[in-house]
Parts: sequence; structure tokens; C-alpha cells
Amino acid sequence: MRETSTSPGAASDEMALVDKPYRDARGDPTASSTAPMSSIRASSGTLRGLSESPVPQGLNTINRTLSASRSEKVRTNGLSKIVKRSQICGARVPNVRNVHREKVSHYTHAMATTASERKLLIGGDWVETGEWLEVRSPYDRSLIGRVAKAGAGETRRALDAAEAAMRDPMLAHERAAILDRVAALLAERSDEAARTISAEAGKPMKAARVEATRAVSTYTMAAVEARRLAGDAVPMDASPAGVGKLAFTLRVPIGIVAAISPFNFPLNLVAHKIAPALAAGCSVVLKPASQTPLSALLLAELETEAGLPPGWLNIVCGPAGEIGDVLVEDERVKLITFTGSSSVGWRLRERAARKRVNLELGNATPVIVAADADLEDAASRLAANAFSFAGQSCISVQRIYVERGAYESFLERYLPRVEALEVGDPADEGTDVGPLIAESERDRVLSWIDDATSRGARVLSGGELDGELLRPTVIADAPRDAKVSSEEVFGPLCTVTPYDTLDEAIALANSTRYGLQAGIFTSDVKSALRAARELEFGGVTVNEAPTFRADQMPYGGVKDSGNTREGPAYAVREMTDERLVVLQL
Ligand code: NAP
Repeated sequence: MRETSTSPGAASDEMALVDKPYRDARGDPTASSTAPMSSIRASSGTLRGLSESPVPQGLNTINRTLSASRSEKVRTNGLSKIVKRSQICGARVPNVRNVHREKVSHYTHAMATTASERKLLIGGDWVETGEWLEVRSPYDRSLIGRVAKAGAGETRRALDAAEAAMRDPMLAHERAAILDRVAALLAERSDEAARTISAEAGKPMKAARVEATRAVSTYTMAAVEARRLAGDAVPMDASPAGVGKLAFTLRVPIGIVAAISPFNFPLNLVAHKIAPALAAGCSVVLKPASQTPLSALLLAELETEAGLPPGWLNIVCGPAGEIGDVLVEDERVKLITFTGSSSVGWRLRERAARKRVNLELGNATPVIVAADADLEDAASRLAANAFSFAGQSCISVQRIYVERGAYESFLERYLPRVEALEVGDPADEGTDVGPLIAESERDRVLSWIDDATSRGARVLSGGELDGELLRPTVIADAPRDAKVSSEEVFGPLCTVTPYDTLDEAIALANSTRYGLQAGIFTSDVKSALRAARELEFGGVTVNEAPTFRADQMPYGGVKDSGNTREGPAYAVREMTDERLVVLQL
């Protein structure tokens, strides 16, 4: 791999032609990876563990921040009062984690987080720009790494490289072999991948390990799709017009794919874009989320190690508006695959009217628990799936509708399980619930709790901080039009609501603008099938939390939740055009 650099300043001001209402709606739009939380200070402003000269590639192990011991946590029981915002945002409790870090700052491999300095991948070169984006831990704001910052110039260069790559197409067996090799390399480096995810996204290690394993599966499935990508035979003699002709379709790559990914699954959702694109024979320009570019760049390293020729994968990190504008406006981009918030996604689609724009967006995930369900099983699955990664999954359980006759029994089983979840340092293998991605997001969720309680809702559990972290929160009696009932919370919060008839439960589940996944727990097959038919969602789970996803599934939403299906078999179809061939015999 060659190393090059471009002039500083290429990444200019962030002029968002598409702005970010999602952040506006949820909190401080200025909060970003380059604007650390003022109230939670990193131990140092420098990149710990890195030498002065840029390290080419690979992750550098550094001294690690050790978390506060569990005994230092303030534990509270359910039915406690919400801590007022003035208490949260004003005088803070001292951050014991920082004090502890200074005392116990020694090298431990097993507990090491990683810091890295990474360049952009453009046309097979690792490129420096003279400007850097800092990646900070959402947990304690310590510096995780630095990434070369791209702007419009680098994005155009990336498109040039992607265009050049596609002039020399790779055969299906070559593409499949590379994908298989990436899967193998990723499996070998699964622990490192999980630590990278955990460090930059603040995702608890348990969940980060699952994500790393799933990314291996995504590459494996994409390799299968590369091998079986084919068109269809057309039955020409089925009409008089076709008699004497033979016809079939070819699946041809659509062209350059621009991929934009969110922070919450920084490895596997990148894999869900770049692996099918390669399977389809498309080159890619990827813009990962600014908070979490390191996992994407790790994947890029593995793809090049697996033998990917230059230009097939290009990664640019930097201001979303500036990079997004180039990707929207450049005619060489034939498809934009976007995963993120609904507001940003739909506006991108409006602006890129002549491109295929595939959107995987948010949800306000509902689940119905019928009185005939196995309540133990439902309580156990829903407690885990409402709060994993602090609710920052697009299909995190948010609205639980319980048949009235089983409401109290369900809560008796559900609330103790929620309260047993471990809240803490995401690097700790025992942690279930870690931080939200930014302090502004945490404060937004707190304000939504305040909004609901001021209108009659009751907090059954949580609703307060544990140190700096928001405890898993269960809310009853939330009004239907409260934000916690009608918008995507994207935090560790769910509502519980009794219902009387299945009609009513389905209507409540369908009552938001979202439609990604929903679920029902019942032992009655008729109720299950009725819910499957009548829930207006891209996917319906029965006796499983709607947070469930396996990577070969067709996954995507209806209504405001999106317009496409991911999963390699489905994404490959989106990333190819069908070309008809007619032969006169
Ligand atoms: P986001 O704020 O919409 O950002 C997603 C990506 O879009 C990031 O890379 C972001 O870059 C980029 N972006 C922002 N503004 C842009 C613009 N004007 N032009 C081009 N790109 C732009 O979403 P997020 O907070 O990262 O992710 C959370 C959301 O994603 C939630 O709503 C969640 O439900 C949804 N999600 C959906 C799925 C699914 O499969 N349906 C999966 C995961 C997440 P910066 O980071 O640089 O701002």
C-alpha cells in the first residue's frame, strides 16, 4: 500500500446542503466527535500511546482507562424520582473514573482499548490530508484515535478512483474469494474488532462481540451471493410476439455505490454496504459516521489485506454536508445506500432524484404481549432487547403493549430483570448498558422523560442517572402523543401500556410514522398470523423480540423507516441492474 498526502485545508467549512434535523430534534446539533463534552473531561488532550509520526496502519495498544468499580456506583431501586436537569447539567459529582485512571494506568492486554491514527483509503493509497478528526470515547471522552479529515476534494478523488476501478471488472469468483478472505481475517481479528467498536461507539463488549461475529456472517453471505449472482430466463414462447426468440437477463453492476453509515453498528452496518457492493461488482465510496470511523477503516485494512485491488473501496471521513453534497451531485454515483436517521435520509433522497437512494432508517419499535404468552420468556427477552447498547439500535424495543389481564403479572417479571441490568463501562465484560453516544443525546432522553411525566406518565424504573449514565427506564401511562410514545427514543427507555383487544394493540403498534420491525408474544397461532398480516412493518417477529436480526434476513422498513431491504441477497439485487438479452433463433 502506498502512503500519500494531500494539502491541508482541502476539507473546508461544513456547508450542509442537507442538514441534520435528527440531531436538532434530539439535542445539541453542535455536539460531535470534535466537540467533546465539556463536563466530562478526557485525561489528556493528546493522543495517548501514539508516537509523533503517523503510524501507518494497525491499532496501537495504549494504556487504558479503568472503570470505577461497581461498588462506587450509586444504585437505586425502581419507583425513584427523576433527577432534575439542573442537578444533571449543573454541579456534577466528581468523575471517579478519571481519578481512578491516574492511579491505575498500567498496560493490561486483556483490558486494553485501542488508539489509532488512521488515514483515508483512496485509490489504494492511505492518504493524509493535514487535518485530523478526533475520535473520543462516548464513555469518558478519552481520545481513542485520530482520522485524516476529508473534504470535497478527497471525495472527488475517491470517485475518480472508484470509476477507474470499475473499468477493469473483477470476475465473480475473484470477488467471492476476496469476500471469503475478509470473513476469515475478521474472524481472526474478532476481538480487536469488538474492542474497536466498543471504544468508539461506547457499546458494551457483550454487544460489540456479537456485532463482530455478525460481520463475519455478513461477509460470508455476500461471498455466496457473488457466486450465485445471475439473471433469469424469460419464457419467450409464452406470447405469440416472443415465438422464435430466446431471452434472458443479466445482472450487471449498477455503477459506483456511495455508502453512508451510522454510528450505532460501525462495523456490521458498514459490512452490509461494502460486502454486497463488492459481490455485485460495484466500487464504493464510503462515508462512515464521524463518531465511529475506526471500525470502517479496520474493515478497509482487512479488505486490502484480502487482495482487493485499488479503487474498489474508498473511505472518506469528514464533514457530512460537504462530503454528502459531492456524493449527491456527482453523476457517476448511481446508488446511495444510507443508514441513519429518517430526516437526513429522506432529504438525501429528495436531493438525489436521479439516483437510486436506498434508505434504512429509524423505528419506534412496538411489541404486543398477549395474555396467553409465556410471560417469563417475554419479560426476559424484552428486558434484554429494550436496553442493549442503551437502546441505540433502530429496532430496540420501545413500546410494549400488554393485554390487560396479564399486565401486572408481566410487570412483576419484567421490572426486576430491567433493574438487574448492569450499567457501566462498556469495556467491562459484565456491562449490559453503557453510555449514550453524546451527553446531548442523554439530556434529550431525560427531557423526553420530563415531558411524559409532566403529562401524567409514571416512571416505574430508572429515569435517573447512575453516575453519568442514564439508567434503563420504564414508563407507564405515557400519553399516545408524547414523544416517548410517538417518536424514536434511541435511548434506554421503553413504555408499557395495557390493551383490551388485539385490534386495539395492532392499531397502537401501527400508530407512529415508523414501520421497521414489530413483534408479538402469544401462544395462539391465529393471533400471531393476524398480527403478521396487519402490523405495517418490514418485519414481524413472533415469540421473539423485534430486535432480532440475522444477517441473511431481508431487513428494512416501510413508511418513514425506509424503502429498501438489506441482507446480502437483497442488497445485491438493489446494487445491480437487470439487462435483457434477446436472441433471434
Ligand atoms: P444520522 O445522524 O442520520 O447519521 C447517519 C450518517 O449520515 C452519518 O454518517 C452522518 O455523518 C451522515 N450524515 C449526516 N448528515 C448528512 C448529510 N447532510 N449528508 C450526508 N450524510 C449525512 O444517524 P445516526 O445518529 O448516525 O444513526 C442513528 C439513526 O440511524 C437512528 O435513527 C437509527 O434508527 C438509524 N438506524 C437505522 C438502521 C436500519 O437498518 N434501519 C440501522 C441503524 C441505525 P456524521 O456522522 O458525520 O454526521
